[in-house]
Amino acid sequence: MNGEFDIIQRYFTASTRAPRKDVVLSIGDDCAITELHPNHRLVITTDTLVENSHFLPTISPADLAYKSLAVNLSDLAAVGAEPAWVSLALTLPKVDHQWLAEFSQSFFQVLDHYNVDLIGGDTTKGPLSLTITAHGLIPKGRALCRHSAKAGDWIYVSGTLGDSAAGLHLLQQKSPQCRESIEESAVENAKVYLCQRHLRPTPRVLLGLELAISGLSTTAIDISDGLLADLGHILNRSQCSAVIDLDKLPLSEQLMRCFDDKTAQSFALCGGEDYELCFTVSEANRSKMERALANIGVPVTCIGQIHQGQKSSIQFRHQGKPVMIDSATGFDHFR
Ligand code: ADP
Ligand code: MG
Repeated sequence: MNGEFDIIQRYFTASTRAPRKDVVLSIGDDCAITELHPNHRLVITTDTLVENSHFLPTISPADLAYKSLAVNLSDLAAVGAEPAWVSLALTLPKVDHQWLAEFSQSFFQVLDHYNVDLIGGDTTKGPLSLTITAHGLIPKGRALCRHSAKAGDWIYVSGTLGDSAAGLHLLQQKSPQCRESIEESAVENAKVYLCQRHLRPTPRVLLGLELAISGLSTTAIDISDGLLADLGHILNRSQCSAVIDLDKLPLSEQLMRCFDDKTAQSFALCGGEDYELCFTVSEANRSKMERALANIGVPVTCIGQIHQGQKSSIQFRHQGKPVMIDSATGFDHFR
């Protein structure tokens, strides 16, 4: 690509923060070299974002930079790792300096917030896409995995569910189903909030770290494909089943303002890209965990319990009674 080295120099060596002490060799050589900490393990994850599949063509470069990092940091959070270094493979259709400046400013803002260094990458010409590899660190034996849920464990989620899918729905210019009793300005504010949750999801790094380091949980996943799909991965790997209490699903007031109950529930169960964590906690650790998380100010909600047998099946309750849910849409047809 024409001017590749200029682009790298100008836009991807732009951190204003001093480099991390554990980076031995960074951008500008054939490889990066980092120091490994004794008694820690290296945690590695890669995610690619492709235009039209993972982001709308209308996304701003600043939001794209934020989101591409957030989805990778969210994977590290799901394991409980402390983010340390990332590399960025960027494919650009053309050299657009305004775009690159906005992208890199936002990119470094996120990196600086989490004390993460950009240590390398690749810059090529082609249809817009980004691949980030993120590296994190975790003390030996502390990683949160998908295979360790046990019958009797309680199922928790952080934050609220369904906001991102609702935001995407609105960004695609589909109309909300506003409730008649709600003022127009309140609905407008709610719409902005939901779109923002889609564009700028919060990777639950602090929560993952707290769960892993304290040992209060051993099982977690980040909700990228929707609660049912992602909880399904835990159940599948842990060879157990679950009961979810629909009345406990944490729904934001903004979601409830813009959509009817059934649609909100469907977004919460099946909508993707909330990047909240779903994790399990044993009865013995439950109150300790709730106190520890209240101290760091991360909201979590208990939505159900792990049960034995019936590999990966999920049953639902509403007002204490069993209900049937279409697992593809999140709708229950019997209410
Ligand atoms: P090589 O040809 O040895 O693969 P490159 O010419 O692709 O090296 O890249 C030169 C240096 O710039 C390398 O250190 C590489 O990691 C880094 N780099 C390239 N593109 C990016 C990018 N988008 N972000 C960060 N570092 C990059
Ligand atoms: Mg290269």
